[in-house]
Amino acid sequence: MSSGRNAPGRITHWIGGKPWNGDSARSGDVYDPATGQVASRVDFADVSTVDEAVAGARAAFTSWRNASLAQRSTVMFAFRELLNARKGELTAIVTAEHGKVLSDAAGEVQRALEAVEFACGIPHLLKGGFSENASTRVDVYSMLQPLGVVGVISPFNFPAMVPLWFVPNAIACGNAVVLKPSEKDPSAANFIAELFAEAGLPDGVLNVVHGDKVAVDRILEHPDVKAVSFVGSTPIARYVYETGTRHGKRVQALGGAKNHMVVLPDADLDLAADAAVSAGFGSAGERCMAISVVVAVDPVGDELVSKIVDRIQKLHVGDGRRPGCEMGPLVTGAHRDRVLSYVDNGQSEGASLIVDGRSHTIDGNLEGFWLGPTLFDHVGADMSIYRDEIFGPVLSVLRVATYDDALDVVNANQYGNGTAIFTNDGGAARRFQNEVEVGMVGVNVPIPVPVAYYSFGGWKDSLFGDSHAYGTEGVHFFTRTKVVTSRWLDPSHGGVNLGFPQNT
Ligand code: NAD
Repeated sequence: MSSGRNAPGRITHWIGGKPWNGDSARSGDVYDPATGQVASRVDFADVSTVDEAVAGARAAFTSWRNASLAQRSTVMFAFRELLNARKGELTAIVTAEHGKVLSDAAGEVQRALEAVEFACGIPHLLKGGFSENASTRVDVYSMLQPLGVVGVISPFNFPAMVPLWFVPNAIACGNAVVLKPSEKDPSAANFIAELFAEAGLPDGVLNVVHGDKVAVDRILEHPDVKAVSFVGSTPIARYVYETGTRHGKRVQALGGAKNHMVVLPDADLDLAADAAVSAGFGSAGERCMAISVVVAVDPVGDELVSKIVDRIQKLHVGDGRRPGCEMGPLVTGAHRDRVLSYVDNGQSEGASLIVDGRSHTIDGNLEGFWLGPTLFDHVGADMSIYRDEIFGPVLSVLRVATYDDALDVVNANQYGNGTAIFTNDGGAARRFQNEVEVGMVGVNVPIPVPVAYYSFGGWKDSLFGDSHAYGTEGVHFFTRTKVVTSRWLDPSHGGVNLGFPQNT
């Protein structure tokens, strides 16, 4: 398998069931973040390339929408088997381009598999309702039909899982897909497309176009794209939602986050410190469900911070392919520099820099895009390190006096993706889950990413649109309902009647 590279060092689009064979006017660098070297270049689609993918998808849709549910499930089961057999290859691709350590990439692929397994059972969720004799000898029934061509636009931080949150459900519901993955780590999407082809998916049902704003804008404006699923940062999510809906599309746009972990005085502080470090620095903090703020309720602050510091100092940071590494580099040099600028900001804004990640020992090539785990204490809600999504290994500790103060902090934040409470008090946890204005809540669980048969989505500026991702909300997003009212001809019903139909 070529992993989409039809020439050494070049990653191109996947259109109509094969690598694109055109010449691209524009392209971008893809790095190995652990060495800082350019590993390959990825083609950037222009408008005509996106149009080619959409036209192919539209043609494929006309027969795929009528493929039997059994045929679609057969493809999905075959894809699941292939992905499971070859998950090691996909894991390696993710680590090579994203930088997250192999064990973390393997976790991403495993969660992606869960989403595929959910899609294998979608026929059960595509059943409509049936009411016999809604009126005398009149039956009413509903059916769920696919939308047509749908666009999926994904971020860099989960190059395998996020595309697979959407693509299997969209396809299993009978749609054709144009996927535009992140240009920073594009190869996982091609690998997925090739596996789908091997699983028997007809050509054109899944296409991958690589690129930047040009490709995204064309997907948002193209009249034959009926819906768009987007995941990325909040400013772009808002833009995608507004632009896509203005062009008449159904849009779900998942945005950024600032996830708080509230630690109450009765919590087990060892468990809380383990969780804060795992969820704060796993994947170098480049997770939309990463914990970026610990809200320590008096009097736990000093003891909790000291336990977090002990754990940070033992973290093994380095090339994710090396044994034992727990945290890898940031995805690009530009992103690393942006995260570094927040370390400067935090100091100048008056927060206490307790652990400076710039001096952490690195097990790898020093040209990589490194920043070690960094901890600020006594952070204020007015500081930029608190307000902004940093998306790196920078953890802030805010200290508050009471549970109510902690709740106020979380609810005043513009984001509402994930949150967690650490406590041994069931009543406090129940109160929190009821009162907190956040879409996904963990009780002594720091990264509460819902399983595939629930749905994933934040509140407030973490999601634009009505539908959360995957699960039953995903099926709802990728289908539309038709209701049929049916009567088989009977002479007793003859005669003209201009009155509004009544049920008798
Ligand atoms: P990003 O917003 O920069 O990019 C996301 C996608 O949008 C990419 O495919 C990119 O090519 C495209 N894009 C970028 N700039 C654009 C522009 N100006 N116009 C049109 N398209 C554009 O996000 P990222 O840096 O790749 O990913 C990290 C962000 O994603 C973080 O904010 C993170 O919180 C968020 N995220 C959210 C979730 C969630 O479920 N809510 C999940 C993962 C990541």
